[in-house]
Amino acid sequence: MTKEQIDWKKKYKEAALDLDKLEKSQNNDQLRLAVSHLTLGLQGQSADLDSELKALRSAMKAETDIGSLKSRRMITNIEKHIRKLDGAREDTTQSVLKAVLSWIFQLKSQIDLDSKESDSLSEFERNAPESVEKLYLLPPLIQNLLTLQVSVLASAKADLTAEHSQLAVDTDLSLIGVELIQLIGVLNLTPEGRQQADELVARIEKGLALGALREVLVSVVELAQLAATTSNEDFENYLINLNTQLVEVQGFLQESHSEQTIAGDAHKQLDQQVRRDVGSISKAVKDSYDLGELKVSVSSQLECIVQAMDEFKRGEEERDERLQARYDALVLHVAEMEEDTGRVKAHMEEERLKARTDALTGLPNRAAYDEYLNNEFNRWKRYRQGFSVAIGDLDLFKRINDTYGHLAGDKVLRLISRVLSKHLRGSDFIARFGGEEFVILMPSTEAEEGAKAMDKLRESVSKSPFNFHGQPVTITMSFGVTQIRESDTKDVLFDRADAALYKAKQEGRNRICIG
Ligand code: GH3
Ligand code: MG
Ligand code: MG
Repeated sequence: MTKEQIDWKKKYKEAALDLDKLEKSQNNDQLRLAVSHLTLGLQGQSADLDSELKALRSAMKAETDIGSLKSRRMITNIEKHIRKLDGAREDTTQSVLKAVLSWIFQLKSQIDLDSKESDSLSEFERNAPESVEKLYLLPPLIQNLLTLQVSVLASAKADLTAEHSQLAVDTDLSLIGVELIQLIGVLNLTPEGRQQADELVARIEKGLALGALREVLVSVVELAQLAATTSNEDFENYLINLNTQLVEVQGFLQESHSEQTIAGDAHKQLDQQVRRDVGSISKAVKDSYDLGELKVSVSSQLECIVQAMDEFKRGEEERDERLQARYDALVLHVAEMEEDTGRVKAHMEEERLKARTDALTGLPNRAAYDEYLNNEFNRWKRYRQGFSVAIGDLDLFKRINDTYGHLAGDKVLRLISRVLSKHLRGSDFIARFGGEEFVILMPSTEAEEGAKAMDKLRESVSKSPFNFHGQPVTITMSFGVTQIRESDTKDVLFDRADAALYKAKQEGRNRICIG
């Protein structure tokens, strides 16, 4: 081998060694850099681990050989710490998942199963394990749950308000309205009173507002005072009861209103608390580099949210129970009132019948006639359905009284009433107008036809056998008949019938005249 050859070989070996050294040192530098960066990524998980990592980084700077014994020992220590951390991480993930699922469950219990919110919640529920496992998915999940919760709370609040106030007002006030209408119906009223009553009934039928109730009650009392009834005391007692009832309804409404305010405050508080907690979670996620602490913090914040929701739900249930109990008591009182109403109504109905019946003859009296005429007249105004009026008057009745005495006269009045009723057509109405005068209303009847009907009555009366002190006596009656005409008032109509009666008397009595 020549000297040049040996030199070359030596030089080559040296160059190869240099190159090898250079490659190794370059690899080591890169590896050192990577390890150093990785240790930074792990920084902040635990104090022990932090000091191990710091030592490793210093060793990486000082040592040329990364595979030295000292470095390897350090890495083994770090591995141990990391394994411990991984176990803790799994525990925290599980508790965050538990809290998120519990939150979702709470929200689900507040909404309808077939709502769109329920579908979203089911989807969140499905994605929850992955969102908790991958920390970067957790903040959007919490944000979504919060948005959904805000809408659930808003609709729960709206439901609460609508249910409690509407339920109470509708049921209680409409019941009271029905009672009042029934009461007004049995009042024995003059025609003017009846008109007022009709207006009041129309007003109540439109719907009773709580604010207008007292005013309506005052009108009912006024009507009751107008009514000719002997059961005023009963009626007044009834109204006093009704008023007490109203005070209770009002109390209930006020109470439910303040409960609603409390409920509204509770909603606001819950909302604020959840917002605060979610805000802290978002901040913790942004600020933290420490996965373990972050998860612990998220988990405890979520627990706070779930706890707040639990408390809210309990509060709501208690409020519901309180309102329900108050409402039940109110319904019971209304039922008692209804019983009272039934009793008062039956009594008043009796009174009303008495008040509209003539005591001597048992026929309807003048008040009843007024009411009947009023109805007929309104029908005429509305539908142009005509009718006729007849006034019948006993002929020379004064003479009967004078001859046989007043008691005999009364007896005649009773007997004549029976004859008249018996021979009257079913659709006609008769009343004792006063003294020995009777008035007959004949719906859908023209004057001519009415006169024929009255002539039958006249004939029946004249053929009735009366005996005084064993002597047969003939009693006769005269009638004036007329039919309703365009532009007639009730008084004009009556005066025309009266004038016809006067004419019948003038023309010799025991006859019918048409006016
Ligand atoms: P005319 O044919 O013109 O009607 O004669 P009249 O006597 O019937 O007329 P008038 O109006 O002068 O007299 C009515 C009498 O009717 C007077 C009164 O004695 C009698 N009368 C009125 N109401 C009653 C009553 O309730 N009982 C009795 N017994 N008589 C009565
Ligand atoms: Mg008379
Ligand atoms: Mg007479």
